[in-house]
Amino acid sequence: MSQKALDEDVNSQQQPAAKSSDASDDGSCLNERVRALEAELERLEREHQRHLQLEKHLESLVKEMHQQRGELLVRNQELTRSRETLDHITRAYQVQASCNHALLQAGSESALLTEVCRLIVEQGRFRLAWVGLVADDDACSIQPAAFFGKEALFLTSHSMSYADNPHGQGPSGRAVRERRPVVCQDIASSPIFSRLRADALAEGLLSCISLPLIVDERCLGVLGIYSDERRVFDVEEVELLVELARQLAFGLEALRARTERSEALEQIRRLAYFDPLTELPNRRMFLERLEQAIAQSERESQQLALLFLDLDRFKDVNDTLGHEGGDALLAAVGRRLRGCVRQADTVARLGGDEFVVILHPAHGSAQVETVAKKIIASFDEPFSLAGNDIHTGTSIGIARYPADGTCIESLLRHADAAMYQAKADGRRTYRFFSAEMNRRIQAKLTLEQHLREAWERGEMSLHYQPQMLLRSEEIVGVEALVRWNSPVLGEVSPERFIPLAEETGMIVPLSEWVLNTACRQMKVWHDAGYDHLRLSVNISARVFHRPSFIDCLDRVLAQTGLSPGRLMLEMTESTVMEKTDVAIMTLTDLKVRGVLLSLDDFGTGYSSLNHLRSFPIDQIKIDRSFLADFDCPFGQSAIIEAMIAMAHSLGICVVAEGVEEQAQVDFLLSRHCDEVQGFYWAHPLPATELLLHLRSRRRDAVGGMFH
Ligand SMILES: [Mg+2]
Repeated sequence: MSQKALDEDVNSQQQPAAKSSDASDDGSCLNERVRALEAELERLEREHQRHLQLEKHLESLVKEMHQQRGELLVRNQELTRSRETLDHITRAYQVQASCNHALLQAGSESALLTEVCRLIVEQGRFRLAWVGLVADDDACSIQPAAFFGKEALFLTSHSMSYADNPHGQGPSGRAVRERRPVVCQDIASSPIFSRLRADALAEGLLSCISLPLIVDERCLGVLGIYSDERRVFDVEEVELLVELARQLAFGLEALRARTERSEALEQIRRLAYFDPLTELPNRRMFLERLEQAIAQSERESQQLALLFLDLDRFKDVNDTLGHEGGDALLAAVGRRLRGCVRQADTVARLGGDEFVVILHPAHGSAQVETVAKKIIASFDEPFSLAGNDIHTGTSIGIARYPADGTCIESLLRHADAAMYQAKADGRRTYRFFSAEMNRRIQAKLTLEQHLREAWERGEMSLHYQPQMLLRSEEIVGVEALVRWNSPVLGEVSPERFIPLAEETGMIVPLSEWVLNTACRQMKVWHDAGYDHLRLSVNISARVFHRPSFIDCLDRVLAQTGLSPGRLMLEMTESTVMEKTDVAIMTLTDLKVRGVLLSLDDFGTGYSSLNHLRSFPIDQIKIDRSFLADFDCPFGQSAIIEAMIAMAHSLGICVVAEGVEEQAQVDFLLSRHCDEVQGFYWAHPLPATELLLHLRSRRRDAVGGMFH
């Protein structure tokens, strides 16, 4: 009730009391009424106060609610942010785990980097990831090595650098140079993202991080990650991505070390199994492949053919073009041979100018023959080397499995034998191995075995054949000739065993023994009063060209005490014509020591007047073949005459060997030959018999051109 209403109520109740005759009753009633009204008023007042308090309380409640709502909103936002962060961290962990797996599985650097970029984009839900590797060049460039994300094109259209110049101020350049992660939370406004900004924004890329790949304080490159959201790289995620970059760098380094090691192993394998000159399999790999081919042929009842090739006159190429030219020819031959066979066949170089081909499987002799002909025909075209057209050919020996041999050793030996037969039959041809070849080989092997045993048992001896002045018949020298009297084979002719000794290398110790024994013997004769005698010793090409030959000679002369001026060394023309320059040096070395020099078998080799002048020789020995038919209508008398005249004009003494008849003696006398040697006067004799022969002649050998 309002105050106005209350007043009206009081007035309306006071008027009837004034009209009443009983004023005291009226007064008490009024008082009660006032008290009631006052009480009511008090109550109303209290009520009002309570309402005011309620209002105040309500206000504070509303305020509190507003405050709580605000707090709730903040918490909600924080929760959302945490959820996002958690999401980022989770995906970063996932990426890291997947990348670790990729690092373990990596086969190549390129595959590893591409896979890591793919994982970052697909699992990390980024738009683009790329890896650039630093180059040690003047421009300090960063070369893109891998990327994932179609937006990467803009990267490849710009060169990147880590140089400390305007070109290297981008996020990648800074990350590499400063060795720290560089984050651009908003590409649109980042001051360091200027050069590529427009291109990046056009691709929808809004933020990025560049992480240096560092190992042992070396920066290998940079990992760049782009997002299509702004401010996406929070602190926790950056930490995880830094760890990812660190692991990637270690993985990259480990992979490089692994690759380097496997490359080194591959290099070792290549060196062990391949010929570096021709890049063909070498002997070792050839033997392994032949072994495998034989095993397979045996299992599957197949045939195979082994072709043994040797270049014709390869030595001439080496002598003409030098070793570099020879090497170039071998490499070219290797390529040409590869072109003549099937992919599965093996072409290998065994060494020198020896090549082998394994045809496996081989389908009969006709097919093998076709390949052999193809190889020979492939040499028709000259090899063009350094502007020179080199013509060469090849001789091929063929052995077949199982017909000609069932093991590596027999196949190789038989193919080799067939190759020698091809060479002997005129080169540029091929020969299949045959039983006859085998018989010859067996005989040769047997002889070789006997020769080795003979050498060990001391079955060799020396005979000496007198050489005399033709006019006076005075003995002026002897030629030492080696003899082999085998208790098993009987007398073996030097024509049989000397070539074998040459081939097997036994000629080297044999020659030293001959030289030593003969010199020692000659010294004995000198001491016995025959000190005018000269000793001739044959020196083979193999011995003559040994670097240690002169040392050997010095040793023998020192040991035996023989005067060098009483020693004549006989070399064939072909010996001194081989490596002419070196030969002249050796001959000069010998001359300096006072040793006499003779050209043996003169007229059968490459006789050249010019060379005769170049060589410091003292004597020529006309080959016995000239004298054999000197008196035939078309005989050699004119040639003998010319040779004697030519030698005399150069001050060279001439010896005729193989003199057996009076007619030959008369002819040589008429042509003024100086000395002779032959059965007409004496056969080669053992040392004791020679001494008797010397005594029986009872002549003091005085004279001769070398006294
Ligand atoms: Mg001789």
